[in-house]
Amino acid sequence: MLRLHDSAQGRVVDVVPRVEGKFSMYVCGPTVDNVPHIGHGRFTLAWDVLRRWLHFGGVDVTYVSNVTDIDDKIIAAAARAGRPEADVAAEYEEMWWAAMAGLGVMRPDHVPHATEYIGQMVAMIEVLLATGHAYRTDDGVYFDTSTVESYGLLAGQPLDSLRAGARVEANDQKRTPLDFALWKAAKPGEPRWDASFGVGRPGWHTECVAMSLELLGENFDLHSGGQDLKFPHHENERAQAVALGKGFSRHWAHNGWVEVEGVKMSSSLNNFTSLTDLLARADQRAYRLLLLRAHYRAPIEVTPGTVADAERALERLDAVARRFRLEPLDETVPVRRSDHPEIESAEDDVAAFVAAVDDDLDTPRAVAQLYDLATKANGLADSGDAAAGNAVAHLLAVLAGSLGLFLRGADATLDKPSSALAAARDEARARGDFVEADRLRDELVALGFVVEDGPAGTRIRRA
Ligand SMILES: [Zn+2]
Repeated sequence: MLRLHDSAQGRVVDVVPRVEGKFSMYVCGPTVDNVPHIGHGRFTLAWDVLRRWLHFGGVDVTYVSNVTDIDDKIIAAAARAGRPEADVAAEYEEMWWAAMAGLGVMRPDHVPHATEYIGQMVAMIEVLLATGHAYRTDDGVYFDTSTVESYGLLAGQPLDSLRAGARVEANDQKRTPLDFALWKAAKPGEPRWDASFGVGRPGWHTECVAMSLELLGENFDLHSGGQDLKFPHHENERAQAVALGKGFSRHWAHNGWVEVEGVKMSSSLNNFTSLTDLLARADQRAYRLLLLRAHYRAPIEVTPGTVADAERALERLDAVARRFRLEPLDETVPVRRSDHPEIESAEDDVAAFVAAVDDDLDTPRAVAQLYDLATKANGLADSGDAAAGNAVAHLLAVLAGSLGLFLRGADATLDKPSSALAAARDEARARGDFVEADRLRDELVALGFVVEDGPAGTRIRRA
């Protein structure tokens, strides 16, 4: 039985899906106004791990994650670049997917875009206005947070302290500081849509409500995201659903921060905060292992040092795959327990691993067990029992794969410099630099690789 820390209840609870054998989850996705950074890597990996874990147990997961493609920050980025908002958003979105593919994060089943849901959002706002939960001002439409009695549930703080911390703009026409914009009246030159309550564009907090309810239905299983979204974003999403009388997410979960070495970081390391850069410098699996070695709710430090440490730790697992010449698992699909009946003979080891991950994703405990298995496999082989060692090594590979960590042994077709070249080629393509992309393809071919374009970007294998 999966247990997760539910932010709404403030404790670890049993997670019983709405429909047995199925799991519906919504993860707030990126605002595509800039290059993806390592913090994005953390939340996408954290929830990719949960998604894969559910698949491993035979659960059919529907994973929805949106793209915010209209927002103040996108408008500002477009103005700086002197280009249309849609072009800027599309360009950063391509970079986003290239980075996700590089990280081994599975594509969501649905990727709703804010601009595709304007009609649904307008209809929602009309209902909120008609029922007295929203009010009009000169600069748009606001949600009246005082109309929702449980407002503040996710923030977990008294309303007074939330009010004191709320940002009040000089030109705000809000009734109370916690009220938030549902609709922003169009300013000259900005993208705009028609609505019965005035021409404008939606505020950020409305899209996820419209999308999650339409794609997953009421009372879906889990809404998750980074801890920084708990308040006000998730609080405000929830308030709208409550005001609409809709059953919203049954559980809420939030992952911890990423910490970087702050301002003391030298200029040469500053760009390490870009996910694309991290992927070019390090084995993508190292970031996943770095996260798995910490609890998903704990803060983690992502620096060249901690990533290099994770790479060394990864090498100890890869060494097992090499020693036992393990057949690599298919990295393009989630690993399912039912596809590996052979591991069931190691009942106790499997049960201990499952218990750890099911316990609010206690991956540090699960990863420690992987290293115990590595020691055990090597010990068995050292004492002459190669077959028993091989079975343990295979178990290790399957369990690591259940969390999306794929071991690569002697048969691995990629090495680090060549996979960095492939990632750089995806990045060049994403920014439309096809001359550079072709140059990188030629370089890979010269190194003896066959280069193919797969759904997750450049795929290379030895010729
Ligand atoms: Zn959201």
